[in-house]
Amino acid sequence: MRKYLSTISFSISILIFVSCGWAQSAARIAGSTSTEMKLPATPEVRKITPPKLDQAYLGKEILCERPMRHGSPQLSVEKIGDQVVAHDYGHGGSGWTLAPGSAEYVNQLFVTSPYASDLKKDSPITIVGAGVIGLFTAYDLVQRGYTNITIMADRFENLTSHNAGGLLAPVSMDNDPKMQAVIEKIGLDAYRFYAQVAKGTHPDFKKGAVIVPSYFDNREESGLEPYVGKVMQPAKEVVLDFGTGTTRKMVAYDDGIFMDTAVMMTSLTDYLKPRVKFVQKKVNQFKDIDSHFVINCAGLGAGALNSDKAVVPVQGHLIMLKDQKPQDLQYMILVYFGEAKTKSGLKVKRSFYQFPKHLPGTGVNDVGVVGGTFIEGATWDMPNQEEFAIMMEGARKFYGLTK
Ligand SMILES: Cc1cc2nc3c(=O)[nH]c(=O)nc-3n(C[C@H](O)[C@H](O)[C@H](O)COP(=O)(O)OP(=O)(O)OC[C@H]3O[C@@H](n4cnc5c(N)ncnc54)[C@H](O)[C@@H]3O)c2cc1C
Repeated sequence: MRKYLSTISFSISILIFVSCGWAQSAARIAGSTSTEMKLPATPEVRKITPPKLDQAYLGKEILCERPMRHGSPQLSVEKIGDQVVAHDYGHGGSGWTLAPGSAEYVNQLFVTSPYASDLKKDSPITIVGAGVIGLFTAYDLVQRGYTNITIMADRFENLTSHNAGGLLAPVSMDNDPKMQAVIEKIGLDAYRFYAQVAKGTHPDFKKGAVIVPSYFDNREESGLEPYVGKVMQPAKEVVLDFGTGTTRKMVAYDDGIFMDTAVMMTSLTDYLKPRVKFVQKKVNQFKDIDSHFVINCAGLGAGALNSDKAVVPVQGHLIMLKDQKPQDLQYMILVYFGEAKTKSGLKVKRSFYQFPKHLPGTGVNDVGVVGGTFIEGATWDMPNQEEFAIMMEGARKFYGLTK
């Protein structure tokens, strides 16, 4: 599976070159004797107490599906019959990472579209889908002064958007390089939004995002390099010491953002309830909707609505942790283990990640989520249940908790 990762290889190479101290070696080779030349910094060692991962500390098992669109998310406006339909779907494993920026981008296309020249502030607009994309779309329209918005969805609870892990990183998509500039713009806008929430400066949302260190095997896999120098600081080389005899060299983005997805879904819904109509209904075709203006934010359902075969489910397994020490879990890690086959014969990309996710209504110490898998094409009738155990084994090994 092609994966969206920032591949501005030249600047990454420069960064790696410099950060690995090779610049200094190169200078020596070139005969420089400058005494001002700094020796490569010894990577900072950070002690991390691993979470408790014995069976007794494992909570809810979560299985959910990323709505991925090969080529890039669909971000466009078109005329279908008499209706003006904007599309904002197919964000794969980065729906949260992109949502506020994506909503703003598509809404801007929509309100400035020649098709929407008769759009008034009180024109009825129907958003199909109540996931993170639908809710941010409604939020952005409210900010723009639109007053007659309906969110129509067949489900409002326990969506992929509630269950998602919460790492801000533009990874696990399959984007055409031509879309890179748009994805970057959207990502930067989204980062700015969440940073305001995390710093307590956002006018409407005070919780749902936190700044924590994000650790990856290398810069490229983070997808975050295009953010550096614009909204983020450069990553540092660090050594994580788990106190188990296991240490790991990683890169750290200390201004990473964790999005507490279930909490943010509640905050968005609470904000929108007095301002927007919520209607529970499955939409089978756009023309079943009364309004002239429609925004398709139906995630996996959007593919069927728009006869878009590029949309595929990418299954993910997660396990919530319980009875932890929350102060020990205030960081995020994502590492990839490579590809294998599931028992059902599908290609699985396995990884280990840990984020400080907390589900509303659970105990204060029920903090942490371990993931995860990426299984393209797996549907609900194919849960690949054994992946939960494989995933936990990977997590224990990562921390050096098993020999
Ligand atoms: C295991 C896992 C971990 C993830 N971790 C992260 C992460 O760490 N960071 C990140 O950025 N992203 C992550 N994601 C991705 C992210 O969760 C998704 O990209 C995002 O939630 C998609 O949001 P959505 O609003 O498009 O879809 P959904 O949340 O699926 O919402 C779709 C909505 O459309 C409605 N709908 C669908 N069809 C119809 C229809 N025909 N009629 C009416 N309503 C309809 C549904 O009822 C629902 O309300 C993860 C995903 C998974 C599965």
